Amino acid sequence: MNEPKTLQDAIVFYNDYANCHAFMISVRWPDGKVTCPRCGSGHVAYLEKARVWKCYGKHAQAKFSLKTGTIFEDSPLGLNKWLTAVWLITSAKNGISSYEIHRSLGVSHKTAWFMLQRIRLAMQEGTFAKAKGQVEVDETFIGGKARNMHKHIREQKITGTGGTDKTAVIGVLERGGKIWVSVIDSRKKKPLQKHVQNHVEPGAEVFTDALKSYEGLDGEYLHQVVDHAEEYVKGQVHTNGLENYWSLLKRTLKGTYTFVRPFHLFRYLDEQAFRFNERKDEDGDSGRFLHVMQNTNGRRLTYKKLTGKAGVAAE
Ligand SMILES: [Zn+2]
Repeated sequence: MNEPKTLQDAIVFYNDYANCHAFMISVRWPDGKVTCPRCGSGHVAYLEKARVWKCYGKHAQAKFSLKTGTIFEDSPLGLNKWLTAVWLITSAKNGISSYEIHRSLGVSHKTAWFMLQRIRLAMQEGTFAKAKGQVEVDETFIGGKARNMHKHIREQKITGTGGTDKTAVIGVLERGGKIWVSVIDSRKKKPLQKHVQNHVEPGAEVFTDALKSYEGLDGEYLHQVVDHAEEYVKGQVHTNGLENYWSLLKRTLKGTYTFVRPFHLFRYLDEQAFRFNERKDEDGDSGRFLHVMQNTNGRRLTYKKLTGKAGVAAE
């Protein structure tokens, strides 16, 4: 297949339904044999006019489309708009707001917001191989008044878990490799060290700041503590990789997304981590696009689940 390499190629290419159809089949059924997403049966017939398949298995909802069983299910929007939106979000270096999607694709703002949240679901890393070698671990606060404060000043002002307007986030960065970022409820020793154990191979070199919660990691790791009182970085003992990542993340959240509710923050974290982790994809934007598209299968997100209630959540 002559796959598109640029946004412009993608818009033209996926505007042709035959291309969408062939592409979605290659993503969902790589061997070309279409099977029913509800029962797995290969005994199906394609009804070309309606653009659906009919399953001969004995169950309700015998008909299915290219969208059934994916993040696109139940959406009245055409795949041409969906695939363009996926391309836009995966190729935007600093993310893209729902207002930009709303304007670029000519969909309502509410629809654009929902589209982005669904696509972010496909940007979640399914599994994270444990970090090894040299690993930086660090936490930060996002949101609230502390958002723009310098880290060291912030640490003087904030103790414990911070105020209710701030969300604590932890990051694990394998130098030269991948990043893993998650919202945390607490910076206490037990939950924090559990995250380290879940995401870092025993025996790895682990660099953290002097937070007390990290004390004791030297049982399983070569744990070295960064001394922020020192003016200069001593050799490899630093968490500069993560600190750079935090500042980029905060700039993106502030610039592109302006306001993110804590409830939704993890989706933005996943999106940014995806972008970072796929930065070296040798096929560039088209490689990242394909990666997300392969993740659209088997994932679903309903509006109710997304918002916790019916209604408009504008961001
Ligand atoms: Zn079936």
